[in-house]
Amino acid sequence: MSWTNLATNGRILVVDDAMENIQILHQALRGEHDVLFALSGEKALELAHQQLPDLILLDAMMPGMDGYAACAALKASAETHDIPVIFVTALSQPEDETRALEAGAVDFISKPFNVAVVRARVRTQLTIKRQADALRELTLTDALTGVANRRSFNNTLENEWRRCARSGAALALIMIDVDHFKRYNDLYGHQAGDHCLQRLCAAMARCASRPQDLLARFGGEEFILLLPEEELAGASVVAQRLLDEVRATALPHAASPTSPLVTVSMGLAATLPRAGLDTGELIRTADALLYRAKHTGRNRFCFDGHD
Ligand code: GH3
Ligand code: MG
Ligand code: MG
Repeated sequence: MSWTNLATNGRILVVDDAMENIQILHQALRGEHDVLFALSGEKALELAHQQLPDLILLDAMMPGMDGYAACAALKASAETHDIPVIFVTALSQPEDETRALEAGAVDFISKPFNVAVVRARVRTQLTIKRQADALRELTLTDALTGVANRRSFNNTLENEWRRCARSGAALALIMIDVDHFKRYNDLYGHQAGDHCLQRLCAAMARCASRPQDLLARFGGEEFILLLPEEELAGASVVAQRLLDEVRATALPHAASPTSPLVTVSMGLAATLPRAGLDTGELIRTADALLYRAKHTGRNRFCFDGHD
């Protein structure tokens, strides 16, 4: 359930088993924020995963899953881990406060509410959240091309690996390297080279359309496309799309012995992830196949069983 507001400034999930508390908090916050609500800890977890709110106001005492258990579950899940939680409770002993903070809460509001205090604390936490999000975005993005950086790729690979291992799905990746890019820089200059990488990234990003796909800069003029829940056959369809899209971008490369236009070479690999198995092997395989693509003429992709 949700009340939406046009002049919204962050989305807040209010969790309380008493409807009158939800109504008071909704009244207090709806002028500035988008307010969602849940009447139980279980429902709160479900909504938090679906809606990814910016902040959660969580009642400590609820029948069934209480606030402490709900908070611990939110903190244990990668998707909801970074959502700040403010505990709202009639309990007021220092031990209660300590317990809430130990469960991962960032703040603590006592009932009965003082509406001005609630608003101020919510505003403070939302500001901190926004700054943290902006910082995270900066540390995970490649400055030149705007795609994910190597660190972001490594995090996502670990997470997707575990997710695919649980669900029994395959995971594919495509290692991509720009052909004769040193010659491109030598002929057109480094700045034109930078611009070329930006254009290529925009083109390649169009080829990975599913939300779980991730295009990342692996280093220099090398990129990697992570395709969770995809097998080699699916990855080769994407690789063909990449070749077509790069060709359609039509960036002249007069110094390339391969083509009058900028081209890329690719190595494809896929596996059925299993917990305990190394992600490095998959990358090494894709790298070896990229090498094969380079040595069999460039402007192509290779995977095992296909040259
Ligand atoms: P190959 O077809 O075998 O891949 O040849 P190549 O010239 O592309 O490969 P090589 O590894 O010899 O050269 C890569 C070049 O990419 C050299 C490097 O200066 C350039 N490069 C790497 N990162 C950047 C960047 O951010 N901007 C620009 N302009 N050039 C870059
Ligand atoms: Mg290259
Ligand atoms: Mg290279």
